[in-house]
Amino acid sequence: MLLLSTKHLSLLIITTLALLSQSPCLAARSTPDYTSNQTQIQTHNISEIKKYFRRFGYLPLQDHHNVSGDTTFDEPLLFKSAILRYQSNLGLPITGKLDIETVSMIMAPRCGVPDSDASHQSMHARENYVFFPGKPRWSRDVPMKLTYAFSKENLIDYVNISDIRAVFKRAFTKWGSVIPVSFVETDDYGFADIKIGFYRGDHGDGEPFDGVLGVLAHSFTPESGRFHLDAAERWAVDFKTEKSEVAVDLESVAIHEIGHLLGLSHSSVKDAVMYPTLKPRDKKLDLSLDDVNGVQALYGSNPNFTLSSLLESDISANQAVDLTGSIRSSSILWATLILDVLFIFCM
Ligand SMILES: [Zn+2]
Ligand SMILES: [Zn+2]
Repeated sequence: MLLLSTKHLSLLIITTLALLSQSPCLAARSTPDYTSNQTQIQTHNISEIKKYFRRFGYLPLQDHHNVSGDTTFDEPLLFKSAILRYQSNLGLPITGKLDIETVSMIMAPRCGVPDSDASHQSMHARENYVFFPGKPRWSRDVPMKLTYAFSKENLIDYVNISDIRAVFKRAFTKWGSVIPVSFVETDDYGFADIKIGFYRGDHGDGEPFDGVLGVLAHSFTPESGRFHLDAAERWAVDFKTEKSEVAVDLESVAIHEIGHLLGLSHSSVKDAVMYPTLKPRDKKLDLSLDDVNGVQALYGSNPNFTLSSLLESDISANQAVDLTGSIRSSSILWATLILDVLFIFCM
């Protein structure tokens, strides 16, 4: 993916913090001094950050021939505007500066899709959910049924298929309980609406996976239905038996990606399942009110859904979490993982 590699991220976090100690606002930086090793590292960081902003839609894409040599802030106002929009979209304090929290988020591996600005979509200030441009959704009449199937040739061998099927059934049920859409597993992979598989590296859709951590999965907007998980991850269905420090909770990722498959983009609400990052060994299994409002704006409400049922499920889930000693936290952004989504406009 077009992401900063782990090596680059490590370098970036160290050198950028050094940079931040000297200048709180990179947008005001002057032309770098190449006589200093320190400054050369700084300009490397600036270039990486600009590349990141271009990649995710915050700065205009440049002529290809100019990218490699572009290490100066020739358009500081444009850059500051990019920082402000980025902070807004990611739910960060809006300072307009590359403060620690912002830089930490920039360094966090994340989704490959450019962020959609939420500000022009929402009619109400409290809404944070975001749709994809054009607001694609499954166009069948509601109540609708969507089928899903697993690619038999593209599974992982260390997790039992029955466990994988149970995880996905729970994940689909989460969404199906709030909208008038039912999800049914089928063996007919070729005709399934949603096609799920684990893939390694370059797998033919132009978005190669990148090995352990980094990008975890990606899915496509309606009505493509393609749902790809990175086979290089250590996928976990139970952290009691899966002890790896880099284990990723399969169900949390499945819930997030299903949101994309239904038409939701990333939310700026950190508790939402549609927030783009997830830490190793962390879980995010409960739809937030933001997730529910977003998906119901696309499909309407399941007649059996009530707000109180959502709150009750949240309370019981939190009690369960407390019993297992798990910890929820939205900090330590650099340790987060990627949830990826791909745009398909013309399927
Ligand atoms: Zn793919
Ligand atoms: Zn995502």
